[in-house]
Amino acid sequence: MRPFDQPIYVTRPLLPPLDALTARLGAVWDSGWLTNAGAQHDQLESRLRAHLDVPHLSLFNNGTMALTMALKALDLTGEVITTPFTFPATPHALLWNALTPVFADIDPVTMNIDPAAIEAAIGSKTSAILAVHVFGTPCDGTAIARIAARHGLRVVYDAAHAFGARMDETPIGTLGDVSMFSFHATKLFHCAEGGALTTGDAALKARFDLLRNFGIEGESTVSAPGLNGKMNEMDAALGLLVLDMVAEEKQQRAAIKAIYSRRFEPIDGITALRDVANFTSSQQYMAIRIDGNRFGVTRDEIYDRLRRHNVIARKYFAPLCSTFPHFENLPSARRENLPVAHRVVDEILCLPLYGALTPDTVERICDIVEGASFSCG
Ligand SMILES: *Cc1c(COP(=O)(O)O)cnc(C)c1O
Repeated sequence: MRPFDQPIYVTRPLLPPLDALTARLGAVWDSGWLTNAGAQHDQLESRLRAHLDVPHLSLFNNGTMALTMALKALDLTGEVITTPFTFPATPHALLWNALTPVFADIDPVTMNIDPAAIEAAIGSKTSAILAVHVFGTPCDGTAIARIAARHGLRVVYDAAHAFGARMDETPIGTLGDVSMFSFHATKLFHCAEGGALTTGDAALKARFDLLRNFGIEGESTVSAPGLNGKMNEMDAALGLLVLDMVAEEKQQRAAIKAIYSRRFEPIDGITALRDVANFTSSQQYMAIRIDGNRFGVTRDEIYDRLRRHNVIARKYFAPLCSTFPHFENLPSARRENLPVAHRVVDEILCLPLYGALTPDTVERICDIVEGASFSCG
């Protein structure tokens, strides 16, 4: 099979018509107001609050800063139980708050942190649980809330993959004390760079807003050790236009996922991540697991073969966070403590998923994945 002429990346950012963006930027230029809670920022904040169906939302300049501020606002101490199977930003936000991550193993099906492993990791210094809705699949929020209540722990969700996801009727951003969303260009909804925190607690929302603006409370009062987490007007203007494109993009992505799922369903050794029951997906990723023993070809071989055909799949989240040099000496980072995560990270592959992919391209990508098995069989 011939390689694709142009590289096919794992995603492609939604781009609104340039003249629509120019018109919005015209309003920004007229106002002469480029950042610090401008008109575009405030509009986006209220539209996202409605879209995500959450009581309170604060915009940030990126998701990592938002998460760092969330942990700061909760005034956590000591240890925080988290997953090794996530983007580096998750445990790094803990380090920037002088908190020690305690890695707990993941569920083999959802790839989210396993509530039983959380419970087993709780010690006298534990102050919170930092869970991630991996690939947009919701964590077991009920079990996590029960554990947190029993041990007096705070719950923070990294919902970077879960924009617009719902469990039954529950919006994902209402779980726990606070949820972080990322609006990076690789995410379904994006502002080029951006992020948000959602919470049901008005006092916490006020704390986020203080921390993202250096802790400046008024012209002559600085009351907290804040940083600069503000979203500027250009990013907010882009976000307002991208938000209008999200519903159609999600429909297109769902149709593409259906093609992938139909093709992989009969294949022994390839498992497409399924949406759980009563769940509205964020359509963020097309994740598959490749069991090298059953399929006859390993994930790494499939990855290389796709690359040779100009398809740039991604091994999210390899390497595991627990193997980073700044974490590897933690007792919880030992391989024996994280057997499921170590297995999953060797099997996972995220395939291209964005609305502009044609069905024909998706079928060809599937041919490449399957062909790898035939050529070695
Ligand atoms: C994208 C992402 C982040 C970081 O968000 P930024 O907006 O890029 O800072 C954090 N956690 C997860 C799971 C992510 O995928």
